[in-house]
Amino acid sequence: MTVFSNPHFDGHERVVFAHDAASGLRAIIAIHDTALGPAVGGCRMWPYASDEAALADVLRLSRGMSYKNALADLPLGGGKSVIIGDPRTDKTEALLRAFGRAVDGLGGRYRTAEDVGTSVVDMDIIGQETRYALGRSEGRAAIGDPSPYTARGGLAAIKAAVHHKLGRRDLAGLRVAIQGVGHVGAHLARLLKAEGVELVIADVNADQVRAVAEETGAAPVEVDRILSLAADVVAPCALGAVLDDQAIATLNTPIVAGLANNQLAEARHGVLLHARGILYAPDYVANAGGIIAVAAENAGLTNLDQVIAKVEAIEGTLATLFHRADSEGRPTAEVADTMARDRLARAHAQTQAPSHVQAGEPDDSRRLAG
Ligand code: NAD
Repeated sequence: MTVFSNPHFDGHERVVFAHDAASGLRAIIAIHDTALGPAVGGCRMWPYASDEAALADVLRLSRGMSYKNALADLPLGGGKSVIIGDPRTDKTEALLRAFGRAVDGLGGRYRTAEDVGTSVVDMDIIGQETRYALGRSEGRAAIGDPSPYTARGGLAAIKAAVHHKLGRRDLAGLRVAIQGVGHVGAHLARLLKAEGVELVIADVNADQVRAVAEETGAAPVEVDRILSLAADVVAPCALGAVLDDQAIATLNTPIVAGLANNQLAEARHGVLLHARGILYAPDYVANAGGIIAVAAENAGLTNLDQVIAKVEAIEGTLATLFHRADSEGRPTAEVADTMARDRLARAHAQTQAPSHVQAGEPDDSRRLAG
Protein backbone atom coordinates (compact mmCIF):
# COMPACT_ATOMS: atom_id res chain seq x y z
CA MET A 1 0.00 0.00 0.00
CA THR A 2 1.48 3.35 -0.99
CA VAL A 3 1.14 6.30 1.35
CA PHE A 4 3.54 9.11 0.38
CA SER A 5 3.25 8.31 -3.32
CA ASN A 6 -0.51 7.70 -3.14
CA PRO A 7 -2.28 9.82 -5.81
CA HIS A 8 -4.46 11.31 -3.04
CA PHE A 9 -1.64 12.02 -0.57
CA ASP A 10 -1.45 15.74 -1.41
CA GLY A 11 0.97 16.74 1.34
CA HIS A 12 -1.01 15.37 4.30
CA GLU A 13 0.53 16.39 7.63
CA ARG A 14 -0.20 13.08 9.32
CA VAL A 15 -1.78 9.75 8.56
CA VAL A 16 -2.37 7.54 11.59
CA PHE A 17 -3.25 3.85 11.40
CA ALA A 18 -5.08 2.78 14.55
CA HIS A 19 -5.51 -0.84 15.56
CA ASP A 20 -7.03 -2.46 18.62
CA ALA A 21 -6.88 -6.24 18.76
CA ALA A 22 -9.45 -6.64 21.52
CA SER A 23 -12.26 -4.77 19.75
CA GLY A 24 -11.15 -5.42 16.17
CA LEU A 25 -10.73 -1.71 15.44
CA ARG A 26 -8.97 -0.90 12.20
CA ALA A 27 -9.10 2.79 11.50
CA ILE A 28 -7.20 5.46 9.60
CA ILE A 29 -7.10 9.07 10.74
CA ALA A 30 -5.89 11.54 8.11
CA ILE A 31 -4.89 15.10 8.96
CA HIS A 32 -4.48 17.10 5.80
CA ASP A 33 -3.75 20.64 6.92
CA THR A 34 -3.88 22.45 10.27
CA ALA A 35 -2.68 25.88 9.19
CA LEU A 36 -6.15 27.31 9.87
CA GLY A 37 -6.71 25.42 13.14
CA PRO A 38 -7.19 21.89 14.49
CA ALA A 39 -8.39 19.41 11.87
CA VAL A 40 -12.11 18.64 12.08
CA GLY A 41 -13.95 16.14 9.92
CA GLY A 42 -16.30 13.23 10.39
CA CYS A 43 -15.67 9.56 11.01
CA ARG A 44 -16.95 7.27 8.27
CA MET A 45 -17.57 3.59 8.99
CA TRP A 46 -17.71 1.52 5.83
CA PRO A 47 -16.94 -2.08 4.78
CA TYR A 48 -14.10 -1.10 2.43
CA ALA A 49 -13.06 -3.82 -0.01
CA SER A 50 -9.38 -3.27 0.81
CA ASP A 51 -7.03 -1.22 2.98
CA GLU A 52 -6.04 0.68 -0.18
CA ALA A 53 -9.66 1.69 -0.79
CA ALA A 54 -9.98 2.90 2.81
CA LEU A 55 -6.76 4.91 2.57
CA ALA A 56 -7.74 6.50 -0.75
CA ASP A 57 -11.14 7.46 0.68
CA VAL A 58 -9.82 8.99 3.90
CA LEU A 59 -7.12 11.00 2.07
CA ARG A 60 -9.61 12.34 -0.48
CA LEU A 61 -12.18 13.19 2.17
CA SER A 62 -9.62 14.78 4.47
CA ARG A 63 -8.36 17.16 1.80
CA GLY A 64 -12.00 17.92 0.99
CA MET A 65 -12.47 18.99 4.62
CA SER A 66 -9.51 21.40 4.37
CA TYR A 67 -11.19 23.01 1.37
CA LYS A 68 -14.66 22.97 2.94
CA ASN A 69 -13.51 24.51 6.23
CA ALA A 70 -11.39 27.11 4.42
CA LEU A 71 -14.23 28.30 2.19
CA ALA A 72 -16.67 28.35 5.11
CA ASP A 73 -14.20 30.75 6.77
CA LEU A 74 -13.84 28.51 9.83
CA PRO A 75 -10.81 28.48 12.13
CA LEU A 76 -10.40 24.78 11.41
CA GLY A 77 -8.10 22.59 9.40
CA GLY A 78 -9.07 19.52 7.41
CA GLY A 79 -9.06 15.93 8.56
CA LYS A 80 -11.17 12.83 8.38
CA SER A 81 -11.21 9.30 9.73
CA VAL A 82 -12.48 5.95 8.51
CA ILE A 83 -13.25 2.81 10.47
CA ILE A 84 -13.03 -0.29 8.31
CA GLY A 85 -16.12 -2.41 8.95
CA ASP A 86 -19.83 -2.75 8.40
CA PRO A 87 -21.66 -0.31 10.68
CA ARG A 88 -24.68 -2.64 10.85
CA THR A 89 -22.76 -5.68 12.11
CA ASP A 90 -19.27 -4.65 13.28
CA LYS A 91 -20.01 -1.57 15.37
CA THR A 92 -19.62 -2.23 19.09
CA GLU A 93 -19.15 0.00 22.10
CA ALA A 94 -15.65 -1.43 22.60
CA LEU A 95 -14.70 -0.59 19.00
CA LEU A 96 -16.03 2.97 19.25
CA ARG A 97 -14.25 3.47 22.58
CA ALA A 98 -10.99 2.20 21.07
CA PHE A 99 -11.47 4.69 18.25
CA GLY A 100 -12.08 7.42 20.84
CA ARG A 101 -8.75 6.58 22.50
CA ALA A 102 -7.00 6.80 19.13
CA VAL A 103 -8.51 10.26 18.56
CA ASP A 104 -7.60 11.32 22.08
CA GLY A 105 -4.00 10.27 21.50
CA LEU A 106 -3.72 13.05 18.93
CA GLY A 107 -4.27 15.61 21.68
CA GLY A 108 -6.83 17.71 19.83
CA ARG A 109 -4.96 17.94 16.57
CA TYR A 110 -7.89 15.98 15.02
CA ARG A 111 -11.53 16.21 16.18
CA THR A 112 -14.20 13.86 14.96
CA ALA A 113 -17.95 14.00 14.27
CA GLU A 114 -20.70 12.02 12.50
CA ASP A 115 -20.40 10.85 8.91
CA VAL A 116 -21.79 7.99 6.83
CA GLY A 117 -22.12 4.97 9.15
CA THR A 118 -21.80 6.92 12.42
CA SER A 119 -24.41 8.78 14.46
CA VAL A 120 -24.96 11.09 17.41
CA VAL A 121 -25.21 8.02 19.68
CA ASP A 122 -21.79 6.86 18.42
CA MET A 123 -20.28 10.29 19.10
CA ASP A 124 -21.62 10.09 22.66
CA ILE A 125 -19.81 6.74 23.11
CA ILE A 126 -16.58 7.97 21.48
CA GLY A 127 -16.91 11.05 23.68
CA GLN A 128 -16.53 8.89 26.79
CA GLU A 129 -12.88 8.43 25.80
CA THR A 130 -12.07 11.84 24.36
CA ARG A 131 -13.25 15.43 24.56
CA TYR A 132 -12.56 15.67 20.83
CA ALA A 133 -15.84 14.09 19.68
CA LEU A 134 -18.34 16.62 18.30
CA GLY A 135 -21.97 16.44 17.18
CA ARG A 136 -22.91 15.01 20.58
CA SER A 137 -26.31 14.97 22.24
CA GLU A 138 -25.21 16.51 25.52
CA GLY A 139 -22.52 18.75 26.88
CA ARG A 140 -21.33 22.30 26.42
CA ALA A 141 -22.81 23.70 23.19
CA ALA A 142 -23.68 20.19 21.91
CA ILE A 143 -25.42 20.45 18.53
CA GLY A 144 -26.47 16.82 18.06
CA ASP A 145 -27.33 15.85 14.49
CA PRO A 146 -25.74 18.44 12.15
CA SER A 147 -28.04 17.67 9.20
CA PRO A 148 -30.67 20.40 9.84
CA TYR A 149 -27.83 22.94 9.58
CA THR A 150 -26.54 21.28 6.43
CA ALA A 151 -30.02 21.58 4.90
CA ARG A 152 -30.24 25.23 5.90
CA GLY A 153 -26.99 25.83 4.05
CA GLY A 154 -28.46 23.96 1.09
CA LEU A 155 -31.35 26.38 0.97
CA ALA A 156 -28.88 29.28 1.00
CA ALA A 157 -26.97 27.63 -1.87
CA ILE A 158 -30.12 27.17 -3.94
CA LYS A 159 -31.06 30.81 -3.37
CA ALA A 160 -27.63 31.98 -4.51
CA ALA A 161 -27.76 29.81 -7.63
CA VAL A 162 -31.34 30.83 -8.52
CA HIS A 163 -30.48 34.49 -8.13
CA HIS A 164 -27.35 34.18 -10.23
CA LYS A 165 -28.75 32.01 -13.00
CA LEU A 166 -32.44 32.92 -13.10
CA GLY A 167 -32.25 36.48 -11.72
CA ARG A 168 -34.85 35.82 -9.00
CA ARG A 169 -34.75 36.21 -5.23
CA ASP A 170 -37.97 34.30 -4.70
CA LEU A 171 -38.16 30.51 -4.97
CA ALA A 172 -41.97 30.28 -5.02
CA GLY A 173 -43.31 28.24 -7.93
CA LEU A 174 -39.91 26.87 -8.94
CA ARG A 175 -39.53 23.12 -9.44
CA VAL A 176 -36.78 21.41 -7.45
CA ALA A 177 -35.88 17.72 -7.89
CA ILE A 178 -34.23 16.13 -4.82
CA GLN A 179 -32.29 12.88 -5.20
CA GLY A 180 -32.23 11.20 -1.78
CA VAL A 181 -34.51 12.24 1.06
CA GLY A 182 -32.55 10.89 4.03
CA HIS A 183 -31.34 13.17 6.80
CA VAL A 184 -30.35 16.22 4.77
CA GLY A 185 -32.67 15.66 1.79
CA ALA A 186 -35.77 15.46 3.99
CA HIS A 187 -34.84 18.61 5.92
CA LEU A 188 -34.15 20.41 2.66
CA ALA A 189 -37.55 19.34 1.30
CA ARG A 190 -39.25 20.87 4.37
CA LEU A 191 -37.37 24.16 3.99
CA LEU A 192 -38.16 24.35 0.26
CA LYS A 193 -41.84 23.60 0.84
CA ALA A 194 -41.94 26.58 3.20
CA GLU A 195 -40.59 28.70 0.31
CA GLY A 196 -43.48 27.59 -1.94
CA VAL A 197 -41.37 25.32 -4.15
CA GLU A 198 -42.88 22.51 -6.24
CA LEU A 199 -40.98 19.41 -5.10
CA VAL A 200 -40.15 16.17 -6.87
CA ILE A 201 -38.29 13.49 -4.90
CA ALA A 202 -36.75 10.07 -5.36
CA ASP A 203 -35.10 7.66 -2.94
CA VAL A 204 -34.27 3.95 -3.01
CA ASN A 205 -35.96 3.73 0.38
CA ALA A 206 -39.72 3.63 -0.36
CA ASP A 207 -40.71 4.35 3.27
CA GLN A 208 -38.60 7.46 3.27
CA VAL A 209 -40.22 8.67 0.03
CA ARG A 210 -43.70 8.03 1.39
CA ALA A 211 -43.03 9.90 4.64
CA VAL A 212 -41.48 12.95 2.95
CA ALA A 213 -44.13 13.04 0.21
CA GLU A 214 -46.92 12.97 2.81
CA GLU A 215 -45.32 15.69 4.87
CA THR A 216 -44.33 18.08 2.08
CA GLY A 217 -46.69 17.26 -0.79
CA ALA A 218 -43.68 16.32 -2.96
CA ALA A 219 -44.31 14.20 -6.05
CA PRO A 220 -42.32 10.93 -5.99
CA VAL A 221 -40.61 9.66 -9.17
CA GLU A 222 -38.46 6.61 -9.94
CA VAL A 223 -34.83 6.86 -8.85
CA ASP A 224 -33.49 6.49 -12.38
CA ARG A 225 -35.51 9.51 -13.59
CA ILE A 226 -34.83 12.12 -10.94
CA LEU A 227 -31.61 13.56 -12.38
CA SER A 228 -33.01 13.94 -15.91
CA LEU A 229 -36.32 15.56 -14.95
CA ALA A 230 -37.15 18.99 -16.29
CA ALA A 231 -36.60 21.16 -13.22
CA ASP A 232 -35.30 24.60 -12.24
CA VAL A 233 -32.90 23.00 -9.76
CA VAL A 234 -31.62 19.46 -9.35
CA ALA A 235 -30.37 18.75 -5.81
CA PRO A 236 -28.30 15.58 -5.38
CA CYS A 237 -28.61 14.67 -1.69
CA ALA A 238 -27.79 10.95 -1.70
CA LEU A 239 -24.50 9.49 -2.90
CA GLY A 240 -21.29 10.85 -4.33
CA ALA A 241 -20.10 10.54 -7.96
CA VAL A 242 -23.61 10.93 -9.41
CA LEU A 243 -22.53 13.60 -11.91
CA ASP A 244 -20.83 11.46 -14.55
CA ASP A 245 -20.77 11.58 -18.37
CA GLN A 246 -24.17 9.96 -18.74
CA ALA A 247 -25.95 11.94 -16.03
CA ILE A 248 -24.59 15.27 -17.26
CA ALA A 249 -25.62 14.52 -20.84
CA THR A 250 -29.24 14.00 -19.76
CA LEU A 251 -29.59 16.78 -17.16
CA ASN A 252 -32.57 18.99 -17.98
CA THR A 253 -31.99 21.83 -15.55
CA PRO A 254 -30.11 25.13 -15.50
CA ILE A 255 -28.85 24.53 -11.92
CA VAL A 256 -27.34 21.69 -9.89
CA ALA A 257 -27.22 22.60 -6.20
CA GLY A 258 -27.37 19.78 -3.68
CA LEU A 259 -25.84 18.53 -0.48
CA ALA A 260 -24.21 15.17 -1.27
CA ASN A 261 -20.43 15.06 -0.89
CA ASN A 262 -18.20 14.53 -3.95
CA GLN A 263 -20.99 14.84 -6.52
CA LEU A 264 -18.60 15.08 -9.47
CA ALA A 265 -17.48 11.60 -10.57
CA GLU A 266 -14.18 13.16 -11.69
CA ALA A 267 -12.83 16.71 -11.66
CA ARG A 268 -13.39 16.96 -15.44
CA HIS A 269 -17.16 16.68 -14.86
CA GLY A 270 -17.10 20.21 -13.45
CA VAL A 271 -15.81 21.29 -16.87
CA LEU A 272 -18.57 19.33 -18.62
CA LEU A 273 -21.29 21.03 -16.56
CA HIS A 274 -19.76 24.39 -17.39
CA ALA A 275 -19.66 23.49 -21.10
CA ARG A 276 -23.36 22.62 -20.97
CA GLY A 277 -24.13 26.00 -19.39
CA ILE A 278 -25.37 24.39 -16.17
CA LEU A 279 -24.58 26.35 -13.00
CA TYR A 280 -23.07 23.98 -10.43
CA ALA A 281 -22.92 24.97 -6.75
CA PRO A 282 -19.72 23.20 -5.63
CA ASP A 283 -20.78 20.56 -3.12
CA TYR A 284 -18.34 21.34 -0.35
CA VAL A 285 -19.40 24.98 -0.34
CA ALA A 286 -23.13 24.19 -0.43
CA ASN A 287 -23.01 21.51 2.27
CA ALA A 288 -20.83 23.31 4.84
CA GLY A 289 -23.78 24.07 7.18
CA GLY A 290 -23.19 20.93 9.24
CA ILE A 291 -19.50 21.60 9.80
CA ILE A 292 -20.30 25.22 10.69
CA ALA A 293 -22.56 23.90 13.48
CA VAL A 294 -19.88 21.39 14.54
CA ALA A 295 -17.34 24.24 14.61
CA ALA A 296 -19.63 26.15 16.97
CA GLU A 297 -19.74 23.15 19.30
CA ASN A 298 -15.96 22.90 19.08
CA ALA A 299 -15.66 26.55 20.08
CA GLY A 300 -18.23 26.18 22.88
CA LEU A 301 -20.58 28.70 21.27
CA THR A 302 -24.19 28.53 22.38
CA ASN A 303 -25.53 31.46 20.38
CA LEU A 304 -27.57 29.69 17.72
CA ASP A 305 -28.39 32.93 15.89
CA GLN A 306 -24.69 33.37 15.25
CA VAL A 307 -24.46 29.82 13.92
CA ILE A 308 -27.45 30.28 11.61
CA ALA A 309 -26.05 33.59 10.33
CA LYS A 310 -22.79 31.85 9.49
CA VAL A 311 -24.67 29.05 7.69
CA GLU A 312 -26.69 31.58 5.72
CA ALA A 313 -23.46 33.33 4.70
CA ILE A 314 -23.00 30.38 2.30
CA GLU A 315 -25.31 32.36 -0.03
CA GLY A 316 -22.84 35.25 -0.19
CA THR A 317 -19.82 32.98 -0.58
CA LEU A 318 -21.46 31.29 -3.54
CA ALA A 319 -22.55 34.60 -5.09
CA THR A 320 -18.90 35.74 -5.03
CA LEU A 321 -17.74 32.42 -6.42
CA PHE A 322 -20.31 32.45 -9.27
CA HIS A 323 -19.34 35.99 -10.28
CA ARG A 324 -15.66 35.11 -10.29
CA ALA A 325 -16.32 31.98 -12.36
CA ASP A 326 -18.25 34.08 -14.89
CA SER A 327 -15.64 36.79 -15.12
CA GLU A 328 -12.82 34.27 -15.54
CA GLY A 329 -14.86 31.99 -17.82
CA ARG A 330 -14.02 29.01 -15.62
CA PRO A 331 -16.07 26.17 -14.12
CA THR A 332 -17.38 26.90 -10.62
CA ALA A 333 -15.82 23.72 -9.20
CA GLU A 334 -12.39 24.82 -10.38
CA VAL A 335 -12.84 28.33 -8.94
CA ALA A 336 -13.88 26.87 -5.57
CA ASP A 337 -10.69 24.79 -5.43
CA THR A 338 -8.62 27.86 -6.32
CA MET A 339 -10.29 29.98 -3.63
CA ALA A 340 -9.76 27.26 -1.00
CA ARG A 341 -6.11 26.71 -1.95
CA ASP A 342 -5.47 30.48 -1.88
CA ARG A 343 -6.90 30.69 1.63
CA LEU A 344 -4.76 27.79 2.81
CA ALA A 345 -1.67 29.33 1.22
CA ARG A 346 -2.33 32.62 3.04
CA ALA A 347 -2.73 30.74 6.34
CA HIS A 348 0.56 28.91 5.74
CA ALA A 349 2.31 32.17 4.95
CA GLN A 350 1.06 33.60 8.27
CA THR A 351 1.84 30.63 10.48
CA GLN A 352 5.21 29.66 8.96
CA ALA A 353 5.13 26.32 10.76
CA PRO A 354 2.95 23.64 9.16
CA SER A 355 0.77 23.27 12.25
CA HIS A 356 0.25 25.80 14.99
CA VAL A 357 -1.81 23.62 17.32
CA GLN A 358 0.55 21.65 19.45
CA ALA A 359 -0.41 18.25 20.79
CA GLY A 360 -1.82 18.66 24.29
CA GLU A 361 -2.52 22.35 23.71
CA PRO A 362 -5.75 22.38 21.73
CA ASP A 363 -6.93 25.67 20.38
CA ASP A 364 -10.28 26.20 22.06
CA SER A 365 -10.62 29.85 21.23
CA ARG A 366 -14.24 30.87 21.01
CA ARG A 367 -14.13 31.81 17.38
CA LEU A 368 -16.42 30.79 14.59
CA ALA A 369 -14.59 32.72 11.92
CA GLY A 370 -11.15 32.19 10.52
P1 NAD B 1 -28.68 9.51 4.67
O1 NAD B 1 -28.12 8.14 4.61
O2 NAD B 1 -29.55 9.89 5.82
O3 NAD B 1 -29.53 9.80 3.35
C1 NAD B 1 -29.17 9.38 2.08
C2 NAD B 1 -30.44 8.96 1.38
O4 NAD B 1 -30.13 8.67 0.03
C3 NAD B 1 -31.07 7.70 1.99
O5 NAD B 1 -32.44 7.94 2.26
C4 NAD B 1 -30.87 6.65 0.89
O6 NAD B 1 -31.91 5.70 0.85
C5 NAD B 1 -30.85 7.52 -0.36
N1 NAD B 1 -30.23 6.91 -1.53
C6 NAD B 1 -29.16 6.09 -1.59
N2 NAD B 1 -28.91 5.74 -2.86
C7 NAD B 1 -29.80 6.40 -3.63
C8 NAD B 1 -30.04 6.47 -5.02
N3 NAD B 1 -29.30 5.80 -5.90
N4 NAD B 1 -31.07 7.24 -5.46
C9 NAD B 1 -31.85 7.90 -4.59
N5 NAD B 1 -31.67 7.87 -3.25
C10 NAD B 1 -30.66 7.12 -2.78
O7 NAD B 1 -27.44 10.51 4.56
P2 NAD B 1 -27.42 12.08 4.80
O8 NAD B 1 -26.81 12.36 6.13
O9 NAD B 1 -28.74 12.67 4.45
O10 NAD B 1 -26.33 12.52 3.71
C11 NAD B 1 -26.65 12.57 2.34
C12 NAD B 1 -25.47 13.13 1.57
O11 NAD B 1 -25.14 14.41 2.07
C13 NAD B 1 -24.19 12.30 1.70
O12 NAD B 1 -23.49 12.39 0.48
C14 NAD B 1 -23.43 13.00 2.79
O13 NAD B 1 -22.03 12.77 2.69
C15 NAD B 1 -23.78 14.44 2.48
N6 NAD B 1 -23.61 15.33 3.62
C16 NAD B 1 -24.37 15.16 4.74
C17 NAD B 1 -24.19 16.02 5.81
C18 NAD B 1 -25.04 15.89 7.05
O14 NAD B 1 -25.08 16.84 7.85
N7 NAD B 1 -25.76 14.79 7.23
C19 NAD B 1 -23.24 17.06 5.74
C20 NAD B 1 -22.48 17.22 4.58
C21 NAD B 1 -22.68 16.35 3.52
